[in-house]
Amino acid sequence: MIVDSHAHLNHEDLLEEADAVLQRAALAGVAAVVVVGYDLPSSKRAVELAERLPQVAAVVGLHPYEAGRAAEDDIRAISELASSTRVAAIGEIGLDYHGEEYAPKALQIELARRQMAMADDLGLPVVLHLRETGLDILPLLDAYPEVRAVAHCFDGGEALLTEVLARGAFISFAGNLTYKRNETLRSLAGRVPPGRLLVETDSPYLAPQGHRGRRNEPAYIVETLSALAAAQGVPVADLALVTSRNAQEIFRPLRTAF
Ligand SMILES: [Zn+2]
Repeated sequence: MIVDSHAHLNHEDLLEEADAVLQRAALAGVAAVVVVGYDLPSSKRAVELAERLPQVAAVVGLHPYEAGRAAEDDIRAISELASSTRVAAIGEIGLDYHGEEYAPKALQIELARRQMAMADDLGLPVVLHLRETGLDILPLLDAYPEVRAVAHCFDGGEALLTEVLARGAFISFAGNLTYKRNETLRSLAGRVPPGRLLVETDSPYLAPQGHRGRRNEPAYIVETLSALAAAQGVPVADLALVTSRNAQEIFRPLRTAF
């Protein structure tokens, strides 16, 4: 049993085929999928999927790319969506300095802060997208110590890993863990305590090595899970169980999914 902790079945590349994609995932052993929004329309689609499909939980939020254009109404609409019992977290929110062309740093930090405050009010965790942002997320985590975080598609360095673990975060690894050149990331992955590990596809992006260049989907998670098990030095079945339990701990709607 595997949980794909981060997939975009709400993305146009997967949405029309969502039922077939989930069937293929189930055949590969994927018991549940967390579908993550990145703007208001995709967050609505995530909630629709989660309300229709018991093996899906939704995450709603505004990606840092939205920081330049997000309006007050969008933030209010996200918090209304988050009242659904099928919503597991606020996300994906965070910082992306690679995408500074979309929004300046100050606006990104402010949008992330607003959504951390929302998660704090609602008693929900956050799913963090962090790309090339050093340790800039730490003041936000420190400002909302009650909010548990998932560092999604982790590819930061040792300092970031140490600091977010110290703040109680879960660390989620995606297909880039399987890329040949990513030896450093695999060695970091081996050092995450098992109780904090999650595994994800981030599909339709970031297909693992064996499917590289193609559209990714939740069934392909098996390859990433194997790479993570090798990095941890544990059997794949054991890691599947522990990561699924972790997903149920952090994402409340999954507790009744399987
Ligand atoms: Zn994502």
